[in-house]
Order: sequence, then structure tokens, then C-alpha cells
Amino acid sequence: MNEVDKARQDDFHVTGDSPDAGCSGSACWMVVVPGPFFGGFTYHHDHDTVGPAPRPGVRVRIPFGQSERVGVILEPVRDEAGQETRALIEVLDHEPLLDSDTLACLVWAAAYYHHPLGEVVFSALPAALRGERSLRVPALRLTADGRVALEEGRVRGSRQQDVLGMLATCPGKAPVAVSELPGASAPVRRRLVEQGWVDLDEITAPATWPPSTAVETPVGDTPPPVLNDEQRAAVTAVEEAGRVFSTWLIEGVTGSGKTEVYLALIEQALAAGLQVLVVVPEISLTPQLIDRFARRLTVRPAVLHSGLSDGERMAAWRAVAAGSASLVIGTRSAAFVPLARPGLIVVDEEHDAALKQQEGFLYHARDVLIWRARQMDIPILLGSATPSLESLRHAWEGRYRHLTLTQRASGAQMPAIHCLDIRAQPMEGGISPALMRAIERHLLDGGQVMLYLNRRGYAPSLVCHACGYVAGCPHCDAYLTWHREVNRLRCHHCGFEQAVPRECPSCHAPLSVRGMGTEQLEDVLAARFPGFGIVRLDRDATAGKGVLAESLARIARGEARLVVGTQMLVKGHDFPGVTLVGVISADQALFASDFRGPERFAQSLLQVAGRAGRAERPGEVLVQTHDPAHPVLTRLLSDGYAAVMAAELAEREQAELPPTRFAALVRADAPQADAVRAFLTEVAGTLRETHGEALSVWGPVPAPLGRRAGRFRYQLLILARIRSELHRALWHIDERVGSRRPGQRIRWSIDVDPIDLA
Ligand code: ADP
Ligand code: ZN
Repeated sequence: MNEVDKARQDDFHVTGDSPDAGCSGSACWMVVVPGPFFGGFTYHHDHDTVGPAPRPGVRVRIPFGQSERVGVILEPVRDEAGQETRALIEVLDHEPLLDSDTLACLVWAAAYYHHPLGEVVFSALPAALRGERSLRVPALRLTADGRVALEEGRVRGSRQQDVLGMLATCPGKAPVAVSELPGASAPVRRRLVEQGWVDLDEITAPATWPPSTAVETPVGDTPPPVLNDEQRAAVTAVEEAGRVFSTWLIEGVTGSGKTEVYLALIEQALAAGLQVLVVVPEISLTPQLIDRFARRLTVRPAVLHSGLSDGERMAAWRAVAAGSASLVIGTRSAAFVPLARPGLIVVDEEHDAALKQQEGFLYHARDVLIWRARQMDIPILLGSATPSLESLRHAWEGRYRHLTLTQRASGAQMPAIHCLDIRAQPMEGGISPALMRAIERHLLDGGQVMLYLNRRGYAPSLVCHACGYVAGCPHCDAYLTWHREVNRLRCHHCGFEQAVPRECPSCHAPLSVRGMGTEQLEDVLAARFPGFGIVRLDRDATAGKGVLAESLARIARGEARLVVGTQMLVKGHDFPGVTLVGVISADQALFASDFRGPERFAQSLLQVAGRAGRAERPGEVLVQTHDPAHPVLTRLLSDGYAAVMAAELAEREQAELPPTRFAALVRADAPQADAVRAFLTEVAGTLRETHGEALSVWGPVPAPLGRRAGRFRYQLLILARIRSELHRALWHIDERVGSRRPGQRIRWSIDVDPIDLA
């Protein structure tokens, strides 16, 4: 953490203390509410306010302008002489929802990512707890009379005896929720109260795990494998470093048994009575992982992702925060879940862009978790077959401990990767003769074949061969994709859709398709290889509930021997029958305009290649390209991933780009191009004037997609050698620009550590 971050964090000292009496004789509290506010608001607590005592992390109802809002108390505030404050209306929680460590992390994250604090704090709560929903439930407490009556055997009625008996076995005089006392029906409770044997009380609903409604699934029925030498060395290294903060980069080729390394370390943490948080980039990866974890460990993991109902999510979240769930597996938003007994954090596929939130609060779950691990003083494991350049650089320069797994754990060989030069080849639906022959050979040999094409739909554009017209989106600078299954043209950027025109709207000639999408590839293969069974994995084909699971099951059972898909294929799936992976075109990725293009290309290629040959049969990977001499491609195939990344790092250094510089992107959009350009020009001017020495400011330039959903998009890239200089500049923008909202319907945002410039 650098100076500015530290200072910012110290500004918001988060403590559990009660404040001194201030603000006209009663205690004052800083409360945050959702909205475009960078700080909190001060309220005082009248002692006759109803509800429990205020503490940091509890929800409160407050007057706000002319209305009322739900806020969260951040911290006590010292007396600010003469300041008029309004009173809290009600304190909603007995127990803080967010503990002081989590609050401190949220305060840091809001400052680091330059996002309004209340938005950040509320985004950390499960949706069900962002309003006034009460967690208080009725409870019973045993009285002294009740205890005596029980001991003297004066209690009649077995129900009453049971209830008093259960209360008597409770430690201390703690009240017990009525829902936890079988037999405590309303009449029984009434009789007990009338006798003076119990008092009615209210407590926070217990956060038990697993919930009583959970479906029984096998737990702990799979013994661990005997770890190989590399796995054992990795486990031992982390073990020997002890249970203190350290960041580990586990770089292991696909199928090298990284997950078994996590499992061994998770098991140890659980055995020590500690909690483990595992974050993965993709919701579709969680079911397999949950099943595998549950079978190997003896606990039932709590799960946190966006596919849950509000109720399920709240139950899991509360169980983790309360410590009753000791293992939690989640997607990026789980990065903020409070941990009662933190022991270990694991971030799997740490290179994956899905770990960065791309809308609203633009945080990177991996980076947030590294901060939390440091603050909680526990180890964090970052795993990947293709680590990000950021993490590799930290590892190369000794800030992260670097562990490598170079062999496949099951004994399988890594697949051989070859390039297919498709220049001047007679293509059949995007497939060259050489790839077609390979597909046929693998199918006849009994293997499964996977074809990767990162474009969904039937064809990426419809064109008129006579006049050159291309069907474009009226709201974006983008072509419309033809989806033949539904026979619609769709914009993949704004969701616009329309019927497919029968002819060219400008010259009335017939329209023809250009380019290739997964729907078309599926058609071509189904026609060429009938009877082999084919599954398509992309966002359109897997949209319905349960469809993805069923498709994956068909592949696993070997019913589908051909698999066609987008990026979805790349993500960690383990299909032992796949022997051939074909990449329909490397060219789009090789020539991507983004500065991370080469890095992304190498990652996707190796990840998709990693699906091949995971079991006994050796795997083969064929990559079609028009540029077989492309340096990134040749280096990857001859020297491997590390060589590509080392070259990439040198280029980034030369171009003064991340990770050798700290970067932020200021994005703005508006219905008028002039307005948005002028706005960013002014921001750029101010920055150059005030922070010119420390920064490079590039732009404003139009965003790669210059118009989207009818709005013109521009951006400004800010680069600094020193992180605190970057943050100083961003605070300057927040203060100067954020306080006087720009007019003309300009929307703008700051993206710290942007992962792409789109
Ligand atoms: P990764 O997470 O690196 O992709 P996994 O942990 O999923 O790798 O392991 C890949 C395959 O190898 C899995 O089927 C797993 O059960 C198996 N495996 C892992 N470690 C061992 C081992 N030590 N002995 C035998 N098989 C192993
Ligand atoms: Zn559009």
C-alpha cells in the first residue's frame, strides 16, 4: 500500500468504540447511503430512539432530505462544535452486518477505485439486506424462576418441560430463537410466560449452515490422490511460510493438479478451525467445483454467485459472515463477504477478465482479495495456467512467491499445438481441408472434437455484393449479427434487433452473409459429419435454465462428439474424451487493437488447447491463421508462454503501459459528441496543468466502439510511474469535476487499473 492509500484509509478510522458525547449531548455517527456521494453523513443518536444501540456496520433508518433512507453506520464521529445534525430514526440491526475489517476494506476500495462510498458499502450487502428487512426474530429466555421450577420438577406438560430443558442447556442466559425450539408453539409460549418461567425477547435470526432446506448430496466420499512431487513441494512451501500474509502465484499447466494443491491447503485451514474463501471467475464453473470440493472435504461449501435467489444468497452470506459456514466458493462479488475466522483465500484463474467488474463499481476481485489477505494477515493463492502479466511481474520481481507445476498430474501429455496456414486454401464454412481431415480422423478414432470460434450468431454481418451496403446498428458503430435460428439481426452491443431484410434496402439486390459465427459452424459440421452428435456452447445456445448443464452432461457422456463454442469453451471444463481442439481463426485476437491483445491471445489459445488430451489419448491442437509468421504466435509455439510474456513486458515498458505504469481510464459518453469531447478536453487540460510532471495524459480519443446505444463515447488514459501520483490526479478530478456535475447529459466514470481500453 502506498502513502496516499494509507492516508485515505487512516482518514476513515474504523473502530468499534462508542464515540464521546458530542453533537448537542448525544453520540454522533457517520452514516453512508447509496448515491453519488464520496463521503458519509453525520447523524446523532437520541437515547430514546427505538431499537438496538448503534454500532459500526449496522443498518439505520435516517431522515434524508425530505424523505427517509436506509444507511449503514461507518464509524463514530467526534464532536464537531456547533454542527447541527439530525437524529437517527431507528437502528435496524442488533449485530453489525459488516465487521470492522470488511468496513475498512470497503473504505479502501471506494477510495482506490474512486467510487462513491455508500454505493460500495451497499454493493457488499446481499440484495435482501439493502433495505429495511428485519433480521430480528422472537426468542425466549429462561428466567431464574423457570430454572428453579425445572429443577424442582414443578413443570407440567412435556412440551413445556422440553422447551425449558432446551433453554437450560444453553450457555449463559442467552435467548434462543423460537424457530430453534421445536414444541414452542404459541399456546406453550403463552403458558410459560404467564408462569414467569421465560421472558420474551428478540434476537438476530441464527445463520445456520447448511440450511435445513439443503438437498442432501455426498460429502467427503472421495479420498485425496497421492500428490506428485511438484504438488507436494507447492503445498509444503505454503505450509512452511505459516499462517501469515503472503501472496502465492501457482502457475501450473492445464490439468497439472492446481486444484488438488488448493484442496490440500484448504483441508489444513479447515482442520485448524479457520474459514476459506475461494473465488472463481465464472458462475458456470461453480457446480463442478462445489461437487468436487464437497466430495473431497467434509464440509458443505456455501456458495455465492448471481444465479441464486435473494433468499439463498442472504442465507449463504450470513452463514459465512457468522462463521457457521467454513468454506465459501463464489464469483467476484464474494470478494467482499465478511469472514468471521479467516484462514486462507484462493483465487482460481487469476488472469481471467471476468474477475474485474465492468459496470458501476469497477473493482478487480483479485486485487481486492490481496488487500484483504494483507489486512487479515493470511495467505492468498492465485492460480492459473496462464497468469496475468501483472501477477507474473510481481512473481518475477519477488513480491509474490512463485510456484510452478509443469506436468499434467494424471500422467497425460500436454497436447501438441500446430499452426495451419490457411492462405489461399479452399475453405469450407471456415474450415480448411487440413482441419477437416483432422476432425474426421479424430472422430473415426473415437475421440471428441472441440472447435473454438469466438463469435456467436450465424454471420457477423449481412452485406450487399452489388452496392457494398452492410446492415449496421442504428445506435452503435457496429454491424448487426444475423441469428438464423430466430431469423433476426441483433446488435451485440446495445441489444437492438430487427427483422432480416429481404433485399438490400438501398439497391434492392439480394444480401449475402459475410464471416462466420458459431451457428453457421454448427450447421456446416452437422451437414458434413452427420450422426456424431453436436453441441454448441455459447450465450445463445445455453440461455435457458438448465440448458448449459445438460449440454455439458451430453459432452461428458460422449453423446456429443463435436463441440462448437465461444469463449465459454475456454473456461476450465474437464472433458477427458476430447482429443482434438481446432481454433477456427487466431487472426481476430492476434490483430486486436487493445494493448493486452497479445497477452489475451496467448491466454485463450493455451486455455482452449488445454481442453485437449486430458486423459490417456494424446491431444492435438490446430490453429488456423492467415499469418503463421506472426511473432506472438511463433514465439508461443516455439518458446512457450513465459517467453511471450517476457517479450510482452519489455514492450509494455517501452510503450510506458501497464503493468510498468499505473493507469486509469476516464470514460465519458453523451448524446452529443462535441459535448463529451469538450468535457474530457477540459479534464485533460486541468490534469496537464496541475499534474503534468507526474503523469502522461493520452486523449481524449474516441473509444474503440465510438458510439453505443446512441451515445458518443470518448476516453482519456492517464498513466503514472508512481501510484500515489495517479490517485492524487484522480482525487483532483473527483473534487473539481465530481462536485459540479457536468451538464449536457454527460455520464463519466473512472476505471482504475483498466483491463482493456474498450
Ligand atoms: P488443474 O486445476 O491444474 O486444472 P486438477 O486439479 O483439476 O488440475 O487436476 C487435473 C486432473 O488430474 C484431475 O482429474 C485430477 O483428479 C487429477 N489429479 C490431480 N492431482 C493428481 C495426482 N496427484 N494424482 C493423480 N491424479 C491427479
Ligand atoms: Zn447497437
